[in-house]
Amino acid sequence: MPSPRVLILGGTGEARRLADALAAEAPHAHVTTSLAGRVANPSTPVAGDVRVGGFGGPDALAAWLRQHRIDVLVDATHPFAAAISAHAAQAAADTGTQIFALRRPGWPVDPRDHRHPVRSLADAAAQLAVLDRRRVFLTTGRQGLAAFAGPELDGSHFVVRSVEPPEPPLPRSTHILLDRGPYTLEGERALFLEHRVDVLVTKDSGGPATAAKLTAARELGLPVVMIERPPAPEGVPEVPDVPAALARLGFSPGAADMCP
Ligand code: NAP
Repeated sequence: MPSPRVLILGGTGEARRLADALAAEAPHAHVTTSLAGRVANPSTPVAGDVRVGGFGGPDALAAWLRQHRIDVLVDATHPFAAAISAHAAQAAADTGTQIFALRRPGWPVDPRDHRHPVRSLADAAAQLAVLDRRRVFLTTGRQGLAAFAGPELDGSHFVVRSVEPPEPPLPRSTHILLDRGPYTLEGERALFLEHRVDVLVTKDSGGPATAAKLTAARELGLPVVMIERPPAPEGVPEVPDVPAALARLGFSPGAADMCP
């Protein structure tokens, strides 16, 4: 396919890097990146078109794919963005559009970690009560923090880090840090010590940009309550990184340089 029309469902660093890599390696491809519009000042790819906002469900996404004659749909959304991934799988099946997911692997288990895997934010809150840790570094994003706002955790202090202000209701004692990765090990160490963190709560997002908090927790011997990924839609092939996504699309790094 010399000039494929590609829709990248984005909201991740990988999506951004794929759009930029396609511009470099496949200048004849027509690439659109779609963002949900959750973040006021999103990091956007340098290359290609960008559209912002929900499509209005799987049927509307299917209509968009048809209208824009998309050849390949790349689901490069965050591993926890389960609704859009399900919609993408359905819309691709309904329209016969090729689809694959660019999904970074979860963080590898390190035997030195004190990991407590849980299935949901509610289970993470319950696990905190079991562990009886009171100074929580909560890095699960700004949504769903009501799970930690119940009276059973009233005696706990939460340091909440998110890109945008978290949505109430929030735990009674909350310190909000608005920040966007990547984060350094030095910075994370300092944060743990300054706030006297004694437990970390995170999603198993994977990737290097936010991995330093796990190293800091490991160094300090602290427990990590790890929310496991939701199941990915069945039948959608996955690649782990941008080079593999380029290869799947039929392009490889440096290929453009070889064109006559
Ligand atoms: P979600 O629950 O899976 O999706 C909710 C709705 O948002 C979807 O039904 C869709 O609306 C719209 N949507 C989501 N991603 C979209 C995209 N890339 N382009 C257009 N519409 C999109 O998603 P979420 O967990 O709220 O995440 C929203 C965005 O933030 C995603 O792009 C994701 O990559 C990014 N993100 C999420 C997390 C996380 O922890 N969940 C972390 C970092 C970044 P319609 O049904 O109207 O089409």
